[in-house]
Amino acid sequence: EFLQLIFDFTTKAVETIKSEKEVTINEVASQRKSNEIIGKCPVCGHAVIEGQKGFGCSNWKNGCKFVIWKNDKFLATMKKKPTKTMVKALLKNGIAPVKGLTSKKGNKFDANLRYEKNADNEYFSWKMEFDK
Ligand SMILES: [Zn+2]
Repeated sequence: EFLQLIFDFTTKAVETIKSEKEVTINEVASQRKSNEIIGKCPVCGHAVIEGQKGFGCSNWKNGCKFVIWKNDKFLATMKKKPTKTMVKALLKNGIAPVKGLTSKKGNKFDANLRYEKNADNEYFSWKMEFDK
């Protein structure tokens, strides 16, 4: 009976430790997800991270305004939202191939998008290019 008691206790303790470990691992994983570096800010060189509403420069506290909003109006007119893959390509190559954009007439098309700072202000504009 005594041995059974010890056995039960040990089993329970192991179970508890196991499940606690799992919680810790999950926490780390979800934290890493929200802090994942998408790329380098084209303005100041700091890391661009994914936030709730957009992909933005982690240096915003010091005034860097680089951000690509998830509800970006230009993309929304073509029924698109910026994806992580798209932003990664933009930051790495300065251009992102985007498939499945929708024209005003409802036709699907592909384009290469640039996101560039306006020369006369600190805002960014989209530029569209097509493969020849
Ligand atoms: Zn920046």
